[in-house]
Amino acid sequence: MKITRHLLHGDAAKKVAFSASPNHGGEFAAGLPDTIVLHCTAGRDAKSAILTLKDPTVKSSSHLVVGRDGSVTQLVPFNAIAWHAGKSAWEGRTGLNDFSLGIEIDNAGRLDRQGEKYFSWFGKEYPRDEVFEGVHRNESEISYWHRYQEQDIELVRKICSLLIKAYPIKLILGHEEIAPGRKVDPGPAFPLDRLREKLLAADRDGSGPPSPVIAKPLASGVVIASSLNIRRDPLASAPKAADPLAQGAAVKILARKPGWLYVSAECKGWVSAEFVRETAGKEGG
Ligand SMILES: [Zn+2]
Repeated sequence: MKITRHLLHGDAAKKVAFSASPNHGGEFAAGLPDTIVLHCTAGRDAKSAILTLKDPTVKSSSHLVVGRDGSVTQLVPFNAIAWHAGKSAWEGRTGLNDFSLGIEIDNAGRLDRQGEKYFSWFGKEYPRDEVFEGVHRNESEISYWHRYQEQDIELVRKICSLLIKAYPIKLILGHEEIAPGRKVDPGPAFPLDRLREKLLAADRDGSGPPSPVIAKPLASGVVIASSLNIRRDPLASAPKAADPLAQGAAVKILARKPGWLYVSAECKGWVSAEFVRETAGKEGG
C-alpha cells in the first residue's frame, strides 16, 4: 500500500477501495492532520458500516474502514475533514475532527454476557473464542468485547505507519479517550497503548515515548516469582499475552478474580495472584 494525492492505494498484496462519502467538511488547516483517532464500528460487518457512513442523513463518516475480512475502504481523502469524532476534547483542543484522521475498525464492540453466551447490541451471538474479557480504561469492572483478529491489528498498524510518514502525526488516540463517558471504542480488546507506543516511539528519534493512558489502578504490586506468566484470560490454559514478567517487576492491578489479578505492566493480562505482593492502594474486594 502507499499514499499518493491523499488517497491510500493498494497493491498486489492488499486491495484498497475508494467509495466517496458526502459526509465531510473542507480541507484541514496547514500543519494538520496531526492526530489519528481509532474507532470500532460496533456493527455487523464492514459493508453495513460503509453504507451508514455514506448515508447523507447520518452526517457521520471516517477516512477509512478496515474490515474483518481484510478489506480496506477509503471514504474521505486524507486532506479533507471527515466527521468521526463528534463532541470531543484532548489536551485543550475540542472538536477533534478538525485535527484528525479517523479509522473505523470492523468489530462488534461491547458484548453482553448471558450465562455462557455473548451477544452484541444488535443481537448476534459471538463464540467464546471471539470474546475478549478485560477492563475498559474508563471503567473499573470486567466487561466483554468482540476480539480483534491479529490480522486486523497488523493492518491498522501498517496503515498508521503510512499515515505517520505522509502527515505530521504526533498522536494516536482512541475515540474513548477524546469522548470519555460518551464513547467506548475501540475498547480494551484493541491494543491501543502497545500500538501507539511502537508506532510513535519509532518515529520520534529519542524524544521519548508518549505517555500511555491507562485505566485507574486499584492497587500496585511486585512480582515475587522468579518468572510469572501473563495471560489473556484468568485461566492457566489461556494464551500468553506477552513474555513472562520478571521477578521484581512492578505491576498495576486493574481488576481481580478469585486467584487472579488483571495487571498492567508492559502489557495487560491475567497473572496468578499468589505470585504478586501488593504494595499500595489495596482496597477491599
Ligand atoms: Zn468512534
